[in-house]
Amino acid sequence: MDKQLVQGNCGNSKRLAELLHHNTDWVWEIDITGRYVWVSDVIKNQLGYTPEEMLGRTPFDFMVSGEAERLKKTFADALAGQKPLSGMINRNRRADGSVVVIETSAIPLFDASGKLYGYRGIDRDITQLDERVLQLESIYQNTPLALCVINRRGQLTKANKAMGLLLGEPEETLVGRCLKEIMPEWHLLFQQDFLRIDGGEELTSKELFLYGRYFYVKPLPVYDAGGNAAGISAAWMDITDRKLAEQQLASANKTLLRYAERDHLTGLFNRRYMDDRLGYEISCAQREGASLSLCMADIDFFKLYNDTYGHQAGDHVLRAVAEALKGALRPGDCVSRYGGEEFLIMLPNTDAKGAMAVAERLRERVMALGIEHKTSAIGGVLTISLGAMTWDSPRFVCSIQSIADISADLISSSDTALYQAKQQGRNRVVSA
Ligand code: GH3
Ligand code: MG
Ligand code: MG
Repeated sequence: MDKQLVQGNCGNSKRLAELLHHNTDWVWEIDITGRYVWVSDVIKNQLGYTPEEMLGRTPFDFMVSGEAERLKKTFADALAGQKPLSGMINRNRRADGSVVVIETSAIPLFDASGKLYGYRGIDRDITQLDERVLQLESIYQNTPLALCVINRRGQLTKANKAMGLLLGEPEETLVGRCLKEIMPEWHLLFQQDFLRIDGGEELTSKELFLYGRYFYVKPLPVYDAGGNAAGISAAWMDITDRKLAEQQLASANKTLLRYAERDHLTGLFNRRYMDDRLGYEISCAQREGASLSLCMADIDFFKLYNDTYGHQAGDHVLRAVAEALKGALRPGDCVSRYGGEEFLIMLPNTDAKGAMAVAERLRERVMALGIEHKTSAIGGVLTISLGAMTWDSPRFVCSIQSIADISADLISSSDTALYQAKQQGRNRVVSA
């Protein structure tokens, strides 16, 4: 390029000359061998050399070690294809020894006969930008949070150190690998995320179990310059400790609940549970206009049994009777140890006839256990007496009685019936 022309004193030439020599980007021209044949004055600021010092030298002469080899190949490829170069990042050594990061773009030059005779290009100092990118890259690589980027083909295009640790492989070897192969049980979830993005939906976080640990995974779309979602960036947080603590807590709560609603001797529900359950069953019966029956069972002459065979043998009998009662009921019926040797049986959707039949069956089952009770006044075997009652809930009529009042009435009627069974000689069922 004719330096006289662009350094002219007037009009457009002057403007052009000022533009070339007094801005932040350095413009240059090289011949077919890569040697500078013209350079703008900006070179003084960018590399610290005068334009004259640059002439005859090649861009590779100023690059830091390693860079020249890499870029010579890129340049040779462009030259062979007679193609332009764009956004080529290269690190160069200034005259004072410091490093400057330059972004190079260039176009091929052809003479009148169409023959390539060199390149004309522009270099931009991106040292500060590059430092920022390096800092961000270092943060990405070294954060304890596992991070990765997944493309539409389900491949990892980026993974940091923590991601490498999570998957048990160096992060460099993960890039290019398919999720289908690394986490076959979860890869479809990420494919579905792409469908969500395409459908305009937000991505939701997920909890995944992988290689024996729990992770909270937060996916976010990654857009390319054209605004298309080209990938998904996923952050993986290890929540194993929290998960295990939650599981322990859930199991402890289950145990506590069991203690709160069960009788420790027989394993049957206890009175506290049964009182709550009775309220619930009353409201169900009210809603459905159904019958609800209760049976109160009590072991006959149990004090005498304890006196004769000892308290421990008495406990054993309580467990055996509990098992017999439980085994004689349908699913949905419920038996509890309501007091010392008293059992309350709840029979939802059961009318008086049905309740009598169940109560009779329970009485027979206990007698059939054949537990010796030689001091019983009614024969040598252990028996129970039962009082049964049935509540036919009036359908579509609002009761003015509270559920607690109805409960108390039902328990009291079954107790009265039980008292009558005892009065009438025991080992029998009386209906209220
Ligand atoms: P009835 O036929 O009138 O019911 O006479 P009973 O002797 O069974 O009635 P009573 O109410 O006089 O005695 C109940 C006995 O039940 C007294 C008590 O020692 C016994 N009992 C209550 N709870 C337990 C327990 O957990 N284990 C044992 N072994 N006995 C218990
Ligand atoms: Mg008794
Ligand atoms: Mg009793």
